[in-house]
Amino acid sequence: MANLTPNALSLLNSVFGLPAFRGEQEEIVRHVTDGGNCLVLMPTGGGKSLCYQLPSLLRGGCGIVVSPLIALMRDQVAGLLEAGVKAAVLNSTLSRDEAEAVEQRLLAGDLDLLYVAPERLLTPRCLALLGRARIALFAIDEAHCVSQWGHDFRPEYIGLSVISERFPNVPRIALTATADELTRQEITDRLGLANAPRFVASFDRPNIKYEIVGKQNAQTQLKAFITERHAGDAGVVYCLSRAKVEDTAAALTRAGVPALPYHAGLDARLRARHQDRFINEDGIVIVATIAFGMGIDKPDVRFVAHLDLPKSIEAYYQETGRAGRDGKPSSAWMAYGLSDIVQQRRMIEESDGTEAFKRVSIGKLNALVSLAETTDCRRSRLLGYFGETSNAKCGNCDNCLSPPLVRDGKVIAQKLLSCAYRTGQRFGAMHLIDVLIGRTTERVTQFGHDKLSVFGIGRELNEKQWRSALRQLVAMGHLQSDNEAFGALKLTDSARGVLKGETAVSLREEPANLRNRASRTKS
Ligand code: ADP
Ligand code: ZN
Repeated sequence: MANLTPNALSLLNSVFGLPAFRGEQEEIVRHVTDGGNCLVLMPTGGGKSLCYQLPSLLRGGCGIVVSPLIALMRDQVAGLLEAGVKAAVLNSTLSRDEAEAVEQRLLAGDLDLLYVAPERLLTPRCLALLGRARIALFAIDEAHCVSQWGHDFRPEYIGLSVISERFPNVPRIALTATADELTRQEITDRLGLANAPRFVASFDRPNIKYEIVGKQNAQTQLKAFITERHAGDAGVVYCLSRAKVEDTAAALTRAGVPALPYHAGLDARLRARHQDRFINEDGIVIVATIAFGMGIDKPDVRFVAHLDLPKSIEAYYQETGRAGRDGKPSSAWMAYGLSDIVQQRRMIEESDGTEAFKRVSIGKLNALVSLAETTDCRRSRLLGYFGETSNAKCGNCDNCLSPPLVRDGKVIAQKLLSCAYRTGQRFGAMHLIDVLIGRTTERVTQFGHDKLSVFGIGRELNEKQWRSALRQLVAMGHLQSDNEAFGALKLTDSARGVLKGETAVSLREEPANLRNRASRTKS
């Protein structure tokens, strides 16, 4: 006689063809099958889908999966149908007749899993339909989209709180691959998971090598990175603006790298063609705005490069996480400079968000800047941000592989801050560096800055070194760029402690400077 109560493991074997559970999957499946709510935090590729697919099969009724990504829904349903699971989608791509057929199947108990777009689920018609159907569970995928402070905020996700109100007795499982503590709290609040356990898998992606370099000429640096380290590899390059996407793709193409642009301003068909080529051909580099990536499942992306700073560590983690899903060695490379910090701050300040939104956003940006400036292991910093603490050195990030030199930067900082102060806190980086190095540019003489005591007091460093020092002082918060005054650098309250010698300042040395230093000491 057939087994009438199949257990989770036998379904894992027979339906999904997998030999064993991974990590906490088994515990999650048991918890949800028994009717419990939970929040699942697992990195991309960790195996989140099974955590709601199996309980849907094990419990009576149909599992309702809320997902914002039409392409992902389609792929998942195709895979499930192949495995013999009765799955369907309900979204805007269906005709009215098709949608009605799906609704009938749901009511007839002829579906195991139904994928629904959030805006669809929230319609009175759909809520009424669900009220008449037998529902096994609600799975809310990409749950971080409820976070108003997050990088993937989707207003329709806010409305999903209706699920816990209308269906309090149906288990809810929220899943995401990225969430700092603030976002976890928001998910918990909005989806009614206050008393539900959290299952947190490690967010470590050990095969990804993290590397963050100071920006000199970003395009040249990128070309060198690709041709020297990833020739012939598939990769994604992220830029902030459409113009920069176009420009960078063209520059790479001229350098012999097969690169294609991707941004929201391109014709939809062209965009789809570029995406298809990236997925189906070998060694294509896609240069994109962040519009690209969510829901794209290409296992052999060998590198993700950032030419602009993302908004937060979560965004950085999610974007770099698109590299190396197959587990093979991959790179996350970013070039970043002072202008990135200034630009991101300006975008936040000029946004029409509330004061609270701006405060949270600046905090998230600062956390990323400190990851970029750290001289410690990048991986332990990154994981620490998601609540995983470890003091170990990973051995697979730039700082572990070639530890940066850190020097006492008190005098350097004092010279820089004095220079900003003596010139009236009205000038940007370039002018301050001119004064420090003692260049008699037209502007320097026009303002009489060649007569100041700070003129030429910084000849011991070159322009690149001063740029790096300046960036670090801005990152530490001793200097800030004033948007109203065209990026003039001004002293903050904390600068006083540095000028008085009360606050210690350590500065990291740019790798290229080491060579200078060596040759100086030799001569
Ligand atoms: P996520 O949604 O977390 O990004 P998926 O659910 O899409 O991850 O799973 C990623 C890959 O891992 C899929 O190819 C899936 O078949 C595989 N996988 C999931 N669980 C297991 C397991 N227990 N054993 C082996 N492979 C698994
Ligand atoms: Zn490391």
